[in-house]
Amino acid sequence: MKLLEYEGKDVFARYGIPTLKRCGVIRIGDSPDGLALDGKGPWVVKAQVLAGGRGKAGGVKLAKTAAETREVAGKMLGMKLVTHQTQGKALTVEEVLVEEACDIAREIYISVVLDRRAGAPSVIASAEGGMSIEELAAGHPEKIIRVPVDAEAGLLEFQARQLAFDLKIPKKNFSDFTEFAKSLVRVFIENDASLVEVNPLVLTADEKLVAIDSKIVTDDNALFRHKDQAAKPDHEASDIEREAKGIGINYIGLDGDIGCMVNGAGLAMATLDTVKMAGGDAANFLDVGGGANVEQITKAFQIILKDPKVKAVLVNIFGGIMKCDNIASGVVEASKKVGLAVPLVVRLEGTRVNEGKEILARSGLKLEQADSLWEAAQKAVAAARR
Ligand code: GDP
Ligand code: MN
Repeated sequence: MKLLEYEGKDVFARYGIPTLKRCGVIRIGDSPDGLALDGKGPWVVKAQVLAGGRGKAGGVKLAKTAAETREVAGKMLGMKLVTHQTQGKALTVEEVLVEEACDIAREIYISVVLDRRAGAPSVIASAEGGMSIEELAAGHPEKIIRVPVDAEAGLLEFQARQLAFDLKIPKKNFSDFTEFAKSLVRVFIENDASLVEVNPLVLTADEKLVAIDSKIVTDDNALFRHKDQAAKPDHEASDIEREAKGIGINYIGLDGDIGCMVNGAGLAMATLDTVKMAGGDAANFLDVGGGANVEQITKAFQIILKDPKVKAVLVNIFGGIMKCDNIASGVVEASKKVGLAVPLVVRLEGTRVNEGKEILARSGLKLEQADSLWEAAQKAVAAARR
């Protein structure tokens, strides 16, 4: 799950990581009058969307007076934002964060990521913050510092000090920085994060160290350990994805028009690839789970058909524990229940596959069967084009 900037900063606050003074978060429908603009300014107004690069796209604005801040914040709410990280899509700004702005002397990049090669969390840092770290890594890999961290011990004092030296942190901020770096690693480990990023970490004109941005991505599989996070809305999930999650179906919406119902995550991935190879695009990833019974298949059909882009449905189920004849009966009953109106292609394989195919053939449903995944994908692509 990705956290919004202000949610990430709430986590930072619990770890004593310094951030800018918050004047409020307003949502669509809220009046900017609710913002606590009692300081002397300037203020920074920030679109709360799950994408970086907001600064360059007009999602981060400085304002000098309280009146200007309210105006900018009001205008930003509801705005469509396209940044270099949104893949051409526009995100609607539903929430805006307003903080007391700081005067920036230096911007530093620092993050903690899961380094699969090292098999450990790693701190990634660069004295050149603010800009896109991807560009820096491509053009000047020597400017990127990597420090592998022991997940049990966290960032050790000597590692934090070495990092401070390498980033040329001034003496005055040295111990603040080492405390910050150690806390950042604790945020990563204790919250089961896959990414914790501060870009930029700032040295202000009045010589303070402040995290002015936050990006935290946590591992959904560890949500059971974090009740507070689990209770929060997943800003990234679509309505269909939220509904699927609620009924225990593993569903991720995609951009294509072929709805896919598969059992097992690996087979679902292979199905998406095969559809792509056959010249089509899947509308979703869907894993119905182990017990592909009528109820679960009905629910899965209902979820798939909620996406108006779906022009054909491809069912690719391997009957292992569940036998193919049971699955076939389930598919037939579920299709009738939901009144399936789009073309259906079914590929079954596994135990009692012939009996399963018989049931499908005699069902009276308008469906096509396939003996292989390749054949099924080709038939589904053709059906979606008709
Ligand atoms: P991002 O573009 O989505 O990563 O958003 P950031 O929160 O990182 O802000 C983008 C840029 O806006 C920063 O790199 C800063 O240069 C600038 N910025 C953000 N907050 C402040 C602030 O309080 N004061 C000043 N002077 N600039 C800021
Ligand atoms: Mn940033």
